[in-house]
Amino acid sequence: MTVEENYRQIDENIRAACLRSGRRREDVTVLAVTKYVTVQTAREAVDSGILNIAENRKEGLIEKQDAIRDSRIVWHLIGTLQTRKVKDVVDRIDYFHALDRLKLAEEINKRKKTGKLKCFIEMNISGEATKHGISEEELDGFIDALGQLEHISVVGLMTMAPYTEDKELIRQVFRKLRRDRDRIRARKLDYAPCTELSMGMSHDYQIAVEEGATFVRIGTALVGNELRGN
Ligand SMILES: *Cc1c(COP(=O)(O)O)cnc(C)c1O
Repeated sequence: MTVEENYRQIDENIRAACLRSGRRREDVTVLAVTKYVTVQTAREAVDSGILNIAENRKEGLIEKQDAIRDSRIVWHLIGTLQTRKVKDVVDRIDYFHALDRLKLAEEINKRKKTGKLKCFIEMNISGEATKHGISEEELDGFIDALGQLEHISVVGLMTMAPYTEDKELIRQVFRKLRRDRDRIRARKLDYAPCTELSMGMSHDYQIAVEEGATFVRIGTALVGNELRGN
């Protein structure tokens, strides 16, 4: 299957999920997660009309960006970021999906000289010890603390559901994220409009769309994972 064929299938699935949940297809943005593929495959995604490209590490982001160089692309960093690497990416990305601690937010704020970086707060809803992200209990306090940082805009919340065949469990996680998003959005904070939901990957994006995802992050099912040896 080519990337374009995969995309056509995914797009169809998203349309069906939107139909089931009374949503509009244009309210869901597909990110191509290119961390497991070559520059050439990433370029194939762009040529198929997918202009939102996501990497989970700074090094991969810079590699793809320097090789592809297309001003239409919206670049997303979706993985955790070490504080000392902030300066290398802060002016290269359009969205950061893994804001999970105040120190990191402060460093972004310091290094971002003009404008605001659009950030998602990464949430650990399932409570798995191996996952990044803040807990639901910490969210409001974290949002309060970000109010002083003029170069950060909290556009939404992000999470990763547990990797399981239990669809109901996955759905519960997405539903909780949506409720948290709604609660922060209702506070009507200028610096935290919090209108977006970044959730759903290859194996669970259809559930995520049904539960309100506005950004789905799809790697394997869309561009494959050739560098992982599959
Ligand atoms: C790798 C990754 C994805 C995509 O994973 P697939 O299962 O290959 O679709 C999505 N989100 C994050 C944060 C990732 O690191």
